[in-house]
Amino acid sequence: MTDAQPILEARSLERRFVTKRAFFGAPTIVRAVDGVDLAVRAGETFAIVGESGCGKSTLARLLVGLIPPTGGDVRFEGRSIAALDPRALREIRRDIQFIFQDPFSSLNPRMTVGALIEEPLRTHGIGSARERRGAVARLLDKVGLRPEHADRYPHEFSGGQRQRVGIARALASGPRVLIGDEPVSALDVSIQAQVVNILEDLKDEFGLTLVIIAHDLAVIRHMADRVAVMYLGKIVEVGRADRLFAKPAHPYSEALLAAIPVPVTGRKPVKVALEGDPPNPIAPPSGCRFHTRCPYAQPRCASEEPSLRDVGGGHMAACHFAGDLNLTGVGADVTARSEAAQRRFERYATARAAMAVKIDTNKPSREE
Ligand code: SF4
Repeated sequence: MTDAQPILEARSLERRFVTKRAFFGAPTIVRAVDGVDLAVRAGETFAIVGESGCGKSTLARLLVGLIPPTGGDVRFEGRSIAALDPRALREIRRDIQFIFQDPFSSLNPRMTVGALIEEPLRTHGIGSARERRGAVARLLDKVGLRPEHADRYPHEFSGGQRQRVGIARALASGPRVLIGDEPVSALDVSIQAQVVNILEDLKDEFGLTLVIIAHDLAVIRHMADRVAVMYLGKIVEVGRADRLFAKPAHPYSEALLAAIPVPVTGRKPVKVALEGDPPNPIAPPSGCRFHTRCPYAQPRCASEEPSLRDVGGGHMAACHFAGDLNLTGVGADVTARSEAAQRRFERYATARAAMAVKIDTNKPSREE
């Protein structure tokens, strides 16, 4: 793989769901992911954001192979996953792992934590029984749990501890890409900080690539190198997180940033706020899908669909007027726009200073 080649790619990726079949009528189709192109670089934290129902969780499941696409392609290190033989596919399954939003429902309640973490090692034939037990103990240590926790069951743990177990399980096969679907949103705010820090420490230690799905822009600003913004199944903007937060190029991104609550006194409120629910994805608007909510819409927006184009330095936006609009961002001041976000960042810093997660560089070896 060359430096320029992404580790994970979506090309014209589509996922359609048939929701119901009317009597003697045509099936109703939801285009949850509708022609997405994106490229995740090795070693980066790539975030996908958007309102509930925009398709970001479906996109995450497509990228990890939990659901098959109905069109397009996912590529890992340039290789199309759909074209792989079963053995190569098993190898790639080790390299791309998933962290679920709800750690409780994703962990089998009848299995001990040790068995849950060991399961991917057994599935992929990694190590002897003794080596696997050692690997489980090391993985528990890395996520801030103790070796004796291996004998307990998921219901004996708090939500934050269960998410740590989920992370340890995802790490067990030695993946190179971790995809997290809202990995901290189900947790208490103070616990979120610990889990975010664990993810960042593990990313640094193992050279992981993180793909994080989230709706909390404070978490995104804290973690992400680059951000993709999704609206009704399509990517409408993608670029470096600092630039996108400081100077968004798409009106939808501006509206999302404006929705961060509680402006501090002395700051001018931004000129746009996101109003109303997204349109029905079964019948998305013609032209630009955002035109029914966009304060900058012009007549051509209702008939002509904008494509993603470079607005400078690799920053892409799908808006006919991207680059011409003087949109307002929040920049590094995202925390200053929200007292809740500010408190969260302070907790991140405090938790990071207090944490002494010992990093052990012994990775479980792969059995040839
Ligand atoms: Fe708004 Fe038109 Fe740009 Fe769409 S193309 S985001 S409707 S200005």
